Amino acid sequence: MQLYNSLSHKKEDFIPNEAGKVSMYTCGPTVYHFAHIGNLRSYIMEDVLEKYLRFTGLDVKRVMNITDVGHLTSDGDTGDDKMLKGAKREHKTVMEIARFYTDAFFADCAKLNIKTPDVVVPATTYIDEFIRVISSLMDKGYAYEAGGNIYFDTSKLDKYYVFGDLSEEDLEVGVREGVEEDGNKRNKADFVLWFTKSKFDDQELKWESPWGTGYPGWHIECSCISMKNLGEYLDLHCGGIDNAFPHHTNEIAQSEAYLGHKWCNYWFHVHHLNTTNGKMSKSKGEFLTVSLLEEKGYDPLVYRYFCLLSHYRKSLVFSWENLDNAVTTFNKLVAKIAPLTQDKSGDIDKTEFDRLMAAFNDALGNDLNTAMGVTVLYDVLKSKANAATKLALISEFDKVLGLDLIKKAEAKTTPAGDSGEDIPAEVQELLEQRKAARKEKNFALADELRDKIAALGYEVKETRQGTLITKIQ
Ligand code: AMP
Ligand code: ZN
Repeated sequence: MQLYNSLSHKKEDFIPNEAGKVSMYTCGPTVYHFAHIGNLRSYIMEDVLEKYLRFTGLDVKRVMNITDVGHLTSDGDTGDDKMLKGAKREHKTVMEIARFYTDAFFADCAKLNIKTPDVVVPATTYIDEFIRVISSLMDKGYAYEAGGNIYFDTSKLDKYYVFGDLSEEDLEVGVREGVEEDGNKRNKADFVLWFTKSKFDDQELKWESPWGTGYPGWHIECSCISMKNLGEYLDLHCGGIDNAFPHHTNEIAQSEAYLGHKWCNYWFHVHHLNTTNGKMSKSKGEFLTVSLLEEKGYDPLVYRYFCLLSHYRKSLVFSWENLDNAVTTFNKLVAKIAPLTQDKSGDIDKTEFDRLMAAFNDALGNDLNTAMGVTVLYDVLKSKANAATKLALISEFDKVLGLDLIKKAEAKTTPAGDSGEDIPAEVQELLEQRKAARKEKNFALADELRDKIAALGYEVKETRQGTLITKIQ
């Protein structure tokens, strides 16, 4: 497949180090709060990437960290400790917060059909490994002690700003975010590997180290967890675009200084989900979660579908209106698949199957063009092929798209009006009467009509998207 590589700023053929195998690393969540649906956009697109690589026959091993220590609010070495902030907010210990929000993260992922990576490592379980790598960086002269902390010396590298195209000003995290500068640093870009003389006197989690009792910086955790589980040569590293600098830049600096050679070949960055007011952010207090979508009556998989309609390298604006549009098209899609599930007999039309499979591979293989992949799904529905062929294709595509299309079609959960052809006329008529009754606020009559519809085998539900009618199985 062709994949855009943030290192080279162009699309490249994806060629793993070892034929047939892919080592893939994903920066995991900082578990001090629920993930917002922006974070989850990144995890959805990374999940599609992993699934597509597997779809093409590659054997993927994917590793992810859980950030439960070391991440400060500025992404650099300034600001507050995020975990400590979460613990104070909820009057709990850091570990209680970490456990709770790790579970919440995976519960959200399950609702979005995001597969759990093969290996998941909480940073607090790898402290010895961090100390070992930091000690080696000290021995090699890439790290120094100042004011009690251990820093990585970026001036020792030939090239530090590997992702390029950022202005000098953009790169000065401290200056950019209007927070204090750390006078211990020899160079502005240097970053903390180990905090000992903590700026946080109330830091809960501390460990013994050769440099005194303290805790690791954020960036070292991903380098160590990746190298330990995936070896010295990494094929693919993923994260949201905000991770490119300073986080991934620092990961590359310390990993390559430690290894003495190039570490990771391909860098995959998902651009942000924004609201109409700008970037979605947890620090702003109010943010959108999967639970909130559910409370408002949205199926989480409709959010996944919404994400697939845009390219991962473009920022995406979230609004309820945009999501409602996705709901409408998703329901129509499912309604169109529904009749196919009634008659699965007949042989697969191999010519049509191969033609449409090739079109799907052209789409996903072209830098993960999921929107084009969804278009191919519509082409399948328009094809002259029989139901068996169409279902076989949809089922294959859904291994990558992860939308439960056939399951939903079989359950025939379709909005009234969009799938008139599937709903008996008698039920349609009762639905219209019920709609009129609700409009007139005659809820007693509306309830009566709902019961009549139920007696005919259909369940009616009012949701934000409108009336949903489901065939009772
Ligand atoms: P965090 O939990 O803050 O460490 O972030 C988890 C992941 O979400 C990282 O890969 C971030 O780069 C990514 N991310 C953060 N904000 C957004 C956003 N608004 N849209 C998409 N991805 C995001
Ligand atoms: Zn990371």
